[in-house]
Amino acid sequence: MYRTHTCGELNISHKDKYVQLAGWVFRKRDLGAMLFIDLRDRYGITQLVFDSNIYEEAKNSLFREYVISVSGIVTERSNKNLKIPTGEIEIVVKSYQILNTSLQPPFTLEDETDGGEELRMKYRYLDLRREILKKNIILRHNVAKEVRNYLTDKGFLEIETPYLIKSTPEGARDFVVPARNSPGKFYALPQSPQTFKQLLMVAGYDKYFQIVKCFRDEDLRADRQPEFTQIDCEMSFVTQEDILNTFEGLIRNIFIKIKGIDLGEFNRMTYEEAIELYGTDKPDLRFEMKIFNITNIVKGKGFKVFDDAEFIGAICVKNGATYTRKQIDELTNFVRRPQIGGTGLIYIKCEAGNNYKSSIDKFYSYEDLDKIRLTVNSSEGDIIFIMAGAKKNTLNALSELRLELGNQLGLRDKNTFIPLWIIDFPLLEWNDDYKRFFAKHHPFTSPKSIEVLKNNPIEAKANAYDLVINGVEIGGGSIRIHNKEEQKLMLSILGFSEEEAEKQFGFLLNAFEYGAPPHGGIAFGFDRLCAILGGTDSIRDYIAFPKNNAGKDIMIETPSEISQEQLNELNIIIKNKN
Ligand code: ASP
Repeated sequence: MYRTHTCGELNISHKDKYVQLAGWVFRKRDLGAMLFIDLRDRYGITQLVFDSNIYEEAKNSLFREYVISVSGIVTERSNKNLKIPTGEIEIVVKSYQILNTSLQPPFTLEDETDGGEELRMKYRYLDLRREILKKNIILRHNVAKEVRNYLTDKGFLEIETPYLIKSTPEGARDFVVPARNSPGKFYALPQSPQTFKQLLMVAGYDKYFQIVKCFRDEDLRADRQPEFTQIDCEMSFVTQEDILNTFEGLIRNIFIKIKGIDLGEFNRMTYEEAIELYGTDKPDLRFEMKIFNITNIVKGKGFKVFDDAEFIGAICVKNGATYTRKQIDELTNFVRRPQIGGTGLIYIKCEAGNNYKSSIDKFYSYEDLDKIRLTVNSSEGDIIFIMAGAKKNTLNALSELRLELGNQLGLRDKNTFIPLWIIDFPLLEWNDDYKRFFAKHHPFTSPKSIEVLKNNPIEAKANAYDLVINGVEIGGGSIRIHNKEEQKLMLSILGFSEEEAEKQFGFLLNAFEYGAPPHGGIAFGFDRLCAILGGTDSIRDYIAFPKNNAGKDIMIETPSEISQEQLNELNIIIKNKN
C-alpha cells in the first residue's frame, strides 16, 4: 500500500526496478525543469527526481516534512554521493501521493540545527527526526540488547520490580504518589529497586538484572534527570571479586560490540589513593597530571598562605612554562569560581637554564623551589601549579583544575576509554548539618569489619565499588549485609531508632530471618553509559523524552496542576500555589 522498500535500502543492484517508498520530504532542490527531493525515513535518505511530466505539480504541492508515498524506477545517478548507501541511485518518480501535510518546522532538522534547546524540547518529536538523535536512540537500543544478551547468556533473569513502593533511602529525596484508597498515605517511586533485588536473592533467584527506571527528586545538575535508567543487577553467593569480574565482562563486551574496542583489564584503585592522587573518587585516567602533597616541604618559610593551610598540593603541567600571564590569570579566575572554591593559584615556571620564575619568589630560595620541582617530578619547560587551604576543598579544587587543564590541552580524547574500579570506600560519612552519619553508598552495604564498625565507625571500610570511565561514574554497588542483627546495627549507627528501623525496613529485616544468602550487586547508569559510548556529554541526547534543567517536560507541560475533583478524591488541599 505505502512502500515496497525503505529509504535506506535501495542501491545499484536494484537498478530498473519499479519501487514504492514512503517518508518525509527532507530537502527540496528546484533546478528549473527538474525537482529533487531527499526522501527520509528511519532507515536513510533516497533521492527522488520529479521530471518534466510531474515537475510543476510536485513543485507546488510538496514541502518540507510532508509525508508522501512515491512510485518510480530505480535509476543510476550521474552525480553520485558515495557517502550514503543509497547514493548511487535515485528514483525517477512516476506518481506520488501526499499522505499528510506538515507545518514548516520551527527549526531545521539538520545535525547542525538552528533551534535552541528549549524550542527543540517543545517539539521533541521533530528534534528526534534529526539524524544525530536518531543515531543515539538506536545506539541506546543496541546497548540494551547487548546487556540483555550478555546477562541472559550468563544465567541472569530479568525480573520487574514495582514502581509504587515505599521510600528507600539512597541519599536523595523521593517522588511520592498519593494513594487514593488510603487517604493521607503515599507511595514512593523507587530511587532504585535496591530492597526488591535483595528480596529476590532471599527468594532464591540467584542472578537478577533489570533495565529499569529510577526516580530521584534531587537538585538538578547539567547531566542529571529526575527519572533515569539503570542496569540494575544482583547475585547470590558472591564475593566482591566475583561481582567485579562478572560486570567487567559485561562492560568489556558492550564496548567490543558497540565500539569495536577491547578495554582490556580494568585498573583498580582504592578510594583513598584516588582522593590523594587525583582529588576525586572518579579520576579521569586518560592523562597523568597527579596531585602531589607538598605540605611538609613548603610550610614554615614565612609565607602565610602556606603556613596557615591544612594542605598544600601541586600539579605539574609538562611543557607549561610557556603559559602567559593572561592564561595564568584565567586559570586563577577558574579556580576561584564559587563552585570550584579555590582561594588562589600559585605557579612556578621551570624555565630554561634551570631558572625559576614564580609567584612566591619572595619567600622561597632557589633551593626551595628546586626541592618542590623534584617532588612533583617537573623538569625544564614545565609549570607547577599550587593550591593551599583546607584539605578536602583544596583536593577538590585541584581535581577541577586538573580536568580543566586536561580539556585545554586536549588530553581528554573522546575516543580513548580508561575504565577504573574504585574500591575500599568508606562505609560512612559524617554530616555536620544533621550531626549524624550517612551511608556513603546506602544502608545495605556491608562493612569490611563489623568490629571496626562497632568501635570506630568513621574508620569502617565498605565492601563497595564504583566503576569510573574517563572521570564519569558509570556504576556502583556493594556486597550487602544479609544478617538481621548486622543490618539493625548499621541502621542504628545511621540514627534510626529501633521502631523507625522496624517501620521502614521491617520487611527486609524479617526476610533476613528466612535464610538470606550472602549477596551483592551493582547498578550502572544506563543513560550515562550510552552518552559515553556515543561520545557526547549530555545524557539528555540519549533519552527520547527527557526533562529540562528545571525538571520540566516543556512539550507536555508538566509538572502541571490537577483538577479540584482529583484533589478532592485524593484528600489533598494545596496550601501554597507558588
Ligand atoms: N542501588 C544502588 C544505586 O542505585 C546500586 C547498588 O548498590 O546495586 O546506586
